[in-house]
Amino acid sequence: MTIMNSSTFEPVLERIAEEIERTPGSGRAADYIPALAARDPRSFGMAVAEPDGTVYGVGDWRQPFSAQSITKVFTLALGLAREGDELWEHVGREPSGNPFNSLVQLEYENGIPRNPFINAGALVVSDRLHTRTGDAAGELLAFLRAESGNPGLSFDEEVAASETAHGDRNAALAHFMASYGNIDNPVPDLLDQYFRQCSITASCADLALATGFLARHGIRADGTRLLSRSQAKQVNAVMLTCGTYDAAGDFAYRVGLPGKSGVGGGIIAVVPGRCTLCVWSPGLDERGNSVAGVAALDRFTTLTGLSVF
Ligand code: GLU
Repeated sequence: MTIMNSSTFEPVLERIAEEIERTPGSGRAADYIPALAARDPRSFGMAVAEPDGTVYGVGDWRQPFSAQSITKVFTLALGLAREGDELWEHVGREPSGNPFNSLVQLEYENGIPRNPFINAGALVVSDRLHTRTGDAAGELLAFLRAESGNPGLSFDEEVAASETAHGDRNAALAHFMASYGNIDNPVPDLLDQYFRQCSITASCADLALATGFLARHGIRADGTRLLSRSQAKQVNAVMLTCGTYDAAGDFAYRVGLPGKSGVGGGIIAVVPGRCTLCVWSPGLDERGNSVAGVAALDRFTTLTGLSVF
């Protein structure tokens, strides 16, 4: 096994980008809302950030894309920071084995979603954060701006409106959980927060940097603590077991890192104590994970020997 020095990240990224370019493009951009379907599935970017904020990148690594479910990691961290273990009374931490927008487990588990990264669980986390802050999406955006050092990060109103127009499934999830008393806020308000959250647009560089607190065991970019060391471990563990839809086992097998994907084609990943990564390519497999993104992370851990195993 070879453990690379920081200075060798750049050649590794170059090599991965060349390999991805030579591989015929596969996967399709998400088309459940028109605003995402317009992306070129072959775009590819990748960034690695070190705990001190040094960032390396290749390809379209500064190109903003729709963060979508990647934001669920940050709302979970903000929620845990606000209310600690009480949060786990409202959302579980087991892989679901079901698609991200599934309703089926909610009924026989009394409205408690399996984990914070399926849509039902993310809705619960956003709901609780919204109750505590009065503006969950605003709190999230401020956090991402601070951690990435990019004050230009913003919501994409077109994407948020498109999500609202096609939001029946998420509305059903929220109403169903509300019927069990597991949602505090009026459902329309919660959906507005959640769709704005998902619409945040950021680049691989922004998201690799914003994930840095998970490599720094809970410490934010400014040196203050967001999460205890143990909570940072918990978030990483839930990413490993639940972060890539119903393909988390295959992702752990291939990549060996905590990771979280989104249907915009991005994936963030963490090497605790060492670095964070973000890769983006909009072509998705049938489970909703970026085909080139998973391949690139697989190559990264193989070439560098950096994984949690
Ligand atoms: N906004 C999407 C939804 O709730 C997020 C999907 C995703 O990235 O997993 O359906």
